[in-house]
Amino acid sequence: MTEATVIDGKAFAAALRERIGVAAAGFAAQTGRRPGLAVVLVGEDPASQVYVGAKGKACEAAGMASFEHRLPADTSEAALLSLVERLNNDPEVDGILVQLPLPSGLNEQAIIAAINPDKDVDGFHVINAGRLAVGQRGFVPCTPLGCLMLLKDHLGDLSGLEAVVIGRSNIVGKPMAQLLTDANATVTIAHSRTKNLPDVVRRADIVVAAVGRPEMVRGDWIKPGATVIDVGINRLPPEEGKEKGRLVGDVAYGEACAVAGAITPVPGGVGPMTIAVLLRNTLVAAHHNAGMPAPEGL
Ligand code: NAD
Repeated sequence: MTEATVIDGKAFAAALRERIGVAAAGFAAQTGRRPGLAVVLVGEDPASQVYVGAKGKACEAAGMASFEHRLPADTSEAALLSLVERLNNDPEVDGILVQLPLPSGLNEQAIIAAINPDKDVDGFHVINAGRLAVGQRGFVPCTPLGCLMLLKDHLGDLSGLEAVVIGRSNIVGKPMAQLLTDANATVTIAHSRTKNLPDVVRRADIVVAAVGRPEMVRGDWIKPGATVIDVGINRLPPEEGKEKGRLVGDVAYGEACAVAGAITPVPGGVGPMTIAVLLRNTLVAAHHNAGMPAPEGL
């Protein structure tokens, strides 16, 4: 049996970051300032601290300015809203990202709603969700846009393909389904109440799994030759003698490899795309804010 092609998200993301770096340098040469991303972290969530650190480093590496705002967990909503307002009005700041989840007591929806939609590089503001829904230009959430880039790179034209997206979250599943619809795929959104999930998945030429359940999608759910995009990031309990458990996706990778035509690994698949697309969205925001056309080919 032939093994699936491994879709190398890490390599794709590295090449994208390279192109972004070139375009960011061009922007800086023309405008006299670097594209800027402000990242706001409230509280001490360890995973969020790692993500925020990685985003700052990636910005600097791409020749962009990174403005980090780390606030204590007991920050009031009024104080956070006032920081967002300041960033909205700061001409050095092209993109604003408030790292989620926020500590309890802070209303995430209210904070996201306060971000200027034209600086909302995460694409979480309802204005950007609406723009995506009706096909207007706007910011698209980074993870699903990264998945679409990998799919187009691997498959080319997606017209008429059957796609099944498992998961209907606002940040992954729903925008993913919209992007696939816009790319002319025939899309089914499956979720926790879907009946006969294995049968639904079996009809898919494209499977996008965004559930958050380790190795839930089994090899015999996959149509032979299908392209599988595994968004899930799940840490298994540590094996004996090990400090940390293994990272796995939502797809049983070994089983799926024997059936699928192509598959993204975890780690090294979708994960690296998320930060690369965040940089891309920030670069696009910088061009809009400077009244310049967005760079091509990103
Ligand atoms: P979420 O918890 O908001 O949504 C999960 C979705 O899965 C829900 O819509 C739910 O209906 C569905 N679901 C739950 N149980 C199910 C079941 N048994 N059968 C079918 N559907 C089921 O999660 P999310 O934020 O969309 O993230 C999903 C996964 O993707 C998580 O593992 C997360 O860590 C990962 N993720 C990765 C990246 C990345 O950069 N690679 C980014 C975002 C999320």
